[in-house]
Amino acid sequence: MTAFRTLDQADVKGKRVLVRVDLNVPMENGRVTDATRIERVLPTIREIADKGGKVILLAHFGRPKGRDPKESLKPVAEAVSQHLGKPVAFADDCIGEAASHAVNALNKGEVLLLENTRFHAGEEKNDPAFVQDLAKLGDLYVNDAFSAAHRAHASTEGLARVLPSYAGRTMQAELDALTKGLESPKRPVVAIVGGAKVSTKIDLLENLVTRVDALVIGGGMANTFVHATGLGIGKSLAEKDLAATALRIIEKARDANCAIILPVDGVCAYEFKAGAENHTYGIDAIPEDRMILDVGSQSVERVNAAINDAATLVWNGPLGAFEIAPFDQGTVAAARHAAQRTKEGKLVSVAGGGDTVAALNHAGVADSFTYVSTAGGAFLEWMEGKALPGVEALRA
Ligand code: AMP
Repeated sequence: MTAFRTLDQADVKGKRVLVRVDLNVPMENGRVTDATRIERVLPTIREIADKGGKVILLAHFGRPKGRDPKESLKPVAEAVSQHLGKPVAFADDCIGEAASHAVNALNKGEVLLLENTRFHAGEEKNDPAFVQDLAKLGDLYVNDAFSAAHRAHASTEGLARVLPSYAGRTMQAELDALTKGLESPKRPVVAIVGGAKVSTKIDLLENLVTRVDALVIGGGMANTFVHATGLGIGKSLAEKDLAATALRIIEKARDANCAIILPVDGVCAYEFKAGAENHTYGIDAIPEDRMILDVGSQSVERVNAAINDAATLVWNGPLGAFEIAPFDQGTVAAARHAAQRTKEGKLVSVAGGGDTVAALNHAGVADSFTYVSTAGGAFLEWMEGKALPGVEALRA
């Protein structure tokens, strides 16, 4: 395992430190509606400022095509300042005179946010000239934005190649957790993969079966597997054209000695609706006119038994339609069980991906997992076994 350069190795005192953060926060009418991402980067900002560094924040916001006032980071600077409890200066551009002027005005321990990096096409192109324009503003580079690390952009990868570069504390925590989860995990490792579709997670499933000891497949995607094994699934959501893919994954798992755990029963309803009348059937007896919306209690028992056997759990995707009660029960029961095993010190549990965070929050257990990643695309690419450019550039 290669280690990463972290703030422990950085001498920031008196230095201009370019810090890539994720400030792509949800906003309504110019106000930040969820400050989770801001909270996550505060430790790195505080540490650099406390050590006498000049903190220069770099971030993207939305998907602007060129300069667009609607996608300015200016209101976010105010929100960061409130959460940080000290002023955060703002520059109207992330390169050029506006930026260098603002950087030159910084004293030790002060914080500046530069305007949206994506106002320049060079950001997403990782254009060397744009990288140089950014690099002129700093002496060191710190990347604290794991969620953007799957993209080889100027502010996520290019800068790390031209300046002394380090992982920020949030990035470091994420990398530690992911290393424990899949790269060098304590065995046995069990993965739970749920969610709607197989098609969005083929690479992920193919990678996991070669890395984990048991793979639990739940949610809508399990229906495709059940169908592929020759059973009827009624009106359930499924991608029947992917039956061959499902069988290939099952075979690959067999070759790799990875147990595949599919549902043995399903909670079925006539319609996809909260409170819909429902009944649990064995997986070989799903009525033609109903759809499976959750795993049944016997399936949950098998999932929990797999969790009991595991030293490490990696989880992405809900086991059922968790947004509509009572079809949240399978996900909630398994999540609570994993949380309990984690609290008892028997399990390292790492979960991530957009809906997974929502599902664990819904179950009230996100804080009891070893680590819950809020990164969407980057977390999935990591589960697919892909190298993340922004992470690779930080390897020692
Ligand atoms: P994903 O974004 O791929 O993780 O999928 C999450 C979505 O899958 C959630 O919105 C769930 O409601 C949905 N889902 C999970 N299980 C089922 C199911 N059995 N039938 C329909 N939708 C499901």
